[in-house]
Amino acid sequence: MRAVLSIGSNMQDRVEHLKSVFAEFQDEIVASSSVYSTPPWGDTDQDEFYNAIIIVEVDQTPLDLLHRGQALEKAADRVRERHWGPRTLDVDIVEIEGFSSDTQELTVPHPHAAERGFVLIPWLAADVHATLGGKPVAGIIGNIPQEDIAGIKVLGRIEKL
Ligand code: ADP
Ligand code: MG
Repeated sequence: MRAVLSIGSNMQDRVEHLKSVFAEFQDEIVASSSVYSTPPWGDTDQDEFYNAIIIVEVDQTPLDLLHRGQALEKAADRVRERHWGPRTLDVDIVEIEGFSSDTQELTVPHPHAAERGFVLIPWLAADVHATLGGKPVAGIIGNIPQEDIAGIKVLGRIEKL
């Protein structure tokens, strides 16, 4: 099963948190984006988010994949200083080839992916032919307001950060 994962961190060692996902899936990664920085919205008294897309080919069920991502989130949370602080690591399943789900536990395709430049821009970079709900991601990006995209900057490959 092929799946698209969106990973993000805006707390503590953001690169280390993203690296834990790259390491977990190292033998199953088909393609991945560089790491991007994204301005925090709302409360600007936060670090910028670091985001990336990883496309994986895994031999497991969608729920098993979800639980694998949640185990990584939990492992990153263990080192957080403030109980109420921003997220150390978020692992979201954006899309799974040939599969959809509409439960609270797992909604795929991810309902907010189409509005999020920090998902779509790295995704397009990892896969120029990416589609979401049957539409090319390249076209969906064109519908996002320019001001929501302006602050998204490429930082570099994870190995170099
Ligand atoms: P968000 O990612 O929306 O900022 P959370 O990561 O805290 O918020 O949300 C976690 C919850 O979302 C989990 O209970 C998980 O079961 C559920 N969930 C539903 N669909 C997905 C998905 N596609 N990817 C990851 N988690 C999902
Ligand atoms: Mg999440």
